[in-house]
Amino acid sequence: MSAFENIVEPDRKLFYVAANVNQLIDVKQTILQKYTLKDQFYEVIKILNSEIDILKIEKEIDNKVQENIAKTQRKFIIQEQIKILQEELGEDEDGSPEFSKMRQQIKKAKMTKEAENKALDELAKLKKTPPMSPESTVIRNYLDWLLEVPWSTKTKDNLGIKHVQKILITVDSGDIGGVFLSLLCFVGPPGVGKTSLGKSIARALGRKFIRISLGGVRDEAEIRGHRRTYIGSMPGKIIQSMKKAGTINPVILLDEIDKMSVDFRGDPSAAMLEVLDPEQNHTFNDHYLEVDYDLKQVMFITTANVRYNIPLPLQDRMEIIELPGYLEYDKIEIAKAHLIPKQLKAHGLSDKKIEFQDAAIRKLIREYTREAGVRNLERELASICRKIARDIVLKESSNGKKKTKKKYIIDEEIVEKYLKNPKFRESHHEKAQRIGSVTGLAWTSVGGDLLNVEVTIMTGTGKLSLTGQIGNVMKESAQAALSYLRSSAKRLGLNTDFFKGKEIHIHVPEGAIPKDGPSAGITMAMAMYSAISGRPASNNVAMTGEITLTGSILPIGGLNEKLLAAKRNDIKTVLIPKKNEIDLNEIPDKVKDGIKIITVEKVDDAIPYIFASLKAQKNNTKIKKKTSKSKRK
Ligand code: ADP
Repeated sequence: MSAFENIVEPDRKLFYVAANVNQLIDVKQTILQKYTLKDQFYEVIKILNSEIDILKIEKEIDNKVQENIAKTQRKFIIQEQIKILQEELGEDEDGSPEFSKMRQQIKKAKMTKEAENKALDELAKLKKTPPMSPESTVIRNYLDWLLEVPWSTKTKDNLGIKHVQKILITVDSGDIGGVFLSLLCFVGPPGVGKTSLGKSIARALGRKFIRISLGGVRDEAEIRGHRRTYIGSMPGKIIQSMKKAGTINPVILLDEIDKMSVDFRGDPSAAMLEVLDPEQNHTFNDHYLEVDYDLKQVMFITTANVRYNIPLPLQDRMEIIELPGYLEYDKIEIAKAHLIPKQLKAHGLSDKKIEFQDAAIRKLIREYTREAGVRNLERELASICRKIARDIVLKESSNGKKKTKKKYIIDEEIVEKYLKNPKFRESHHEKAQRIGSVTGLAWTSVGGDLLNVEVTIMTGTGKLSLTGQIGNVMKESAQAALSYLRSSAKRLGLNTDFFKGKEIHIHVPEGAIPKDGPSAGITMAMAMYSAISGRPASNNVAMTGEITLTGSILPIGGLNEKLLAAKRNDIKTVLIPKKNEIDLNEIPDKVKDGIKIITVEKVDDAIPYIFASLKAQKNNTKIKKKTSKSKRK
């Protein structure tokens, strides 16, 4: 500026300015092209004016930029300050609202001290892990589990005995009053209401109910979970159920505890022991959860089909309650009081007038089902309800949507119309007397049943063959029965050479069902006796008992179920081992009513009851002599 002031000549002033303006040569050329000084000045002023405009705009932009920078700086500084303040106050090291929420949840969950520390450790780990890494998902899942299993939430028990009785009365609860809070085990065939009883106990107490099926569990990890090192590992069934229950004191029904099996992956019953043992279960350790979990407040109920298959150490800890199976009379009552109303409701028929006659229900029980419980009966009733519902819909639509007021009476005829041919028309055992065919009583996991044993003798090479899916124990008792008959042939009045040049074939029909156990010994001996002696066996006598080589009869299990099966099948006389006599006291009278129960100690004692004709033909048999001799004694 001072140089400019010092110039006096107007033309020099002009060139001084023009030379210093920051413009392209082309623009400056326009100045030179003007002829007069005045015009040249105009040209310079024009350029300067546009320069001023540009500078103005630049300045404006510059200001705005400055302003923005100031704002973000402000924010950054404030954030930094907040951080410092929070650190001063000792709050929220978590750095993100999500983590602080988790921390609060952990604090609120009322975990055990151990679990809480573990959860906080994991949270600290999670913060350091990149959010997209797989490790982060693993930790998150783990924390979710820790947060979701209940640590303190509890339902209040309803212990009013009146109330409990009122609910439990709906199932045949037997005598359960005194043993209420110990570890219960319901043993009985399928469909006798074990699960329903567990459910009712939970309802009566006002507790949550969870059912865990143990059938087929062979891996300890299914109970106790997998360690977190496995991808996709999870807690075991126990902890999963606790999460489902959401309370620390549910009723957990461990179904089919007798169906667990052992293999190389560890013994699940060992884990089960820990779960069920009150001394140990307050520190139940799930492999996934890693921290101890307290199961002390859980009420465990177990169920099993067969007592003998429950691991012994478990049996010792449980109060075993047998639910043996229902009589026909019970089933009719259960059907009328529970199953029919339940099925009518399920099929939307509650408001219709539908009446099941007793005779119809009896027909369903006798001819369409063969079971200890009522599961199939319920299924058949459901099937009838479906057909009634269809009939009603058809009728109402043809009547122009008018509701029918008609009363439906379900009698035997309608049952047969709806369900077609009965599945078990004849009583299970053969009515006709036949040589070489004797009725035994078997006990399977689905209750008692009749077991027909058939024997034929043919020319052969002194061989005993057995068919009908017979297990090893049963095969051995067939051998024992044969040896006994051979060694006692003379005394029993049999041809001593009966096995010479012959082959004996024992068949136990219904080959699809595997059969085993020693209790068919007496039946097989008698079937062989019948075939060898040519005497027909009585058709309404059934028997059970293990035999020894000397012809003694040893006690058997499942007496109640076997007697129920005999009753179901109209058997009038049952032979049981003498040593089972004491068990008869425990069997309800209504099961024993109408059956003649005879206890036998020796194979020989059984013969007169099965081969009735022997009593009549009182000549020439050594049997006769022997019995009379023993009588004299
Ligand atoms: P389980 O567990 O012994 O196999 P469930 O409890 O599953 O038997 O019972 C099967 C069906 O039979 C259920 O629908 C149940 O309601 C019915 N049931 C069994 N026993 C009774 C009973 N005493 N009273 C009412 N319903 C019963």
